[in-house]
Amino acid sequence: MDDSTPITEYLLSMVEAAILARASDIHLEPEERQCRVRWRIDGCLLDGPRPPLDGRDRLISSVKIMAQLDIAEKRRPQDGRFDFPLSDGTLRDIRVSSLPTIRGEKLVLRIMAPAQALPLAALGLETAQLAHLQRALARPHGMVLMTGPTGSGKTTSLYACLQSLPLDGINVCSVEDPVEIALSGANQVAVCEKSQLDFPNALRALLRQDPDVIMVGEMRDGVTADIAVKAAQTGHLVLSSVHTSGARATLARLINMGVAPFNLSSAQPLIVSQRLLRRLCRYCRRPVCLTLSAWRGAGWDDGVPEAASPYEAHGCAECQHTGYRGRLGVFELLPLAENALNARGELNPGLVCQPTLRQAALAKVMQGETSLSEVSAVVMD
Ligand SMILES: [Zn+2]
Repeated sequence: MDDSTPITEYLLSMVEAAILARASDIHLEPEERQCRVRWRIDGCLLDGPRPPLDGRDRLISSVKIMAQLDIAEKRRPQDGRFDFPLSDGTLRDIRVSSLPTIRGEKLVLRIMAPAQALPLAALGLETAQLAHLQRALARPHGMVLMTGPTGSGKTTSLYACLQSLPLDGINVCSVEDPVEIALSGANQVAVCEKSQLDFPNALRALLRQDPDVIMVGEMRDGVTADIAVKAAQTGHLVLSSVHTSGARATLARLINMGVAPFNLSSAQPLIVSQRLLRRLCRYCRRPVCLTLSAWRGAGWDDGVPEAASPYEAHGCAECQHTGYRGRLGVFELLPLAENALNARGELNPGLVCQPTLRQAALAKVMQGETSLSEVSAVVMD
């Protein structure tokens, strides 16, 4: 493409190229006269194709028209969406949001994943962890809590859990903001501020409808957390997520929100902490010999692992020269038994979970799935 390419032609081919490159978001960032185009792929922002010269305003307007935003309104944030037709005949859902910056409107186009939940076994759990999670999901009551920072794959894991349930024989209900994947056989409710359908209201309503399994997209406030914990104590299986760095932080957050430690431990939650690591590109990864000090530096507290076959990132056309292609989850599971917390809501010191997040991540290095530097960058605690 050159500077004479019409802006709509640029836009359509740029969005399609971003989708084919597995991007999750497209950022259109206004500069002095130009517009910077960046794509997020596997969690990292990379430069996309440069738009035609002086095309900034026309590019922003074209996207706003496609997403049915008010093109005259440039000072208030707006949001909208459009369906993007791919050349294979399928449609992709694109969510658009605008933000007025000092250089003009910045747009982000979020490319929604094709609506399909992953099987549990594809998430990246170690074999024993997978069996543990499946046992927790087979209980008639209790909680499974996914925890991690933004973009750590909590929602993907929640959907994988829901989909693994025998949806035909039970009543599965969810409250979500928004519903990202429509699951056949589940009754999903989207939170809607305009109709005053917030998490607590929706949750109270669905509890009157004889549910077996309840999924609460995220526990953000004390009222929601309290209802969810009590539902788990009274014969329901509750799945939810909490935006925290790990199991201990999750307990502290829930107790800060006002959930009584006694209620929390008697709900018997399985707390799953997770992170997403970039997967080394199969086409260009290179075997690497890691020294003992490199392993130790990444938190390994033993000798050089003998069975390890580690690789490092290189870069090729298949991976946009990043060395990585796709991502995989690493997990730490902490089951809370009834006596796991003291009266102040602190974990009894004897409780350890194996493997830890870091051990699970280092196992992926030994299997050649990711690199030591990726583990050091993503797994902090
Ligand atoms: Zn590659």
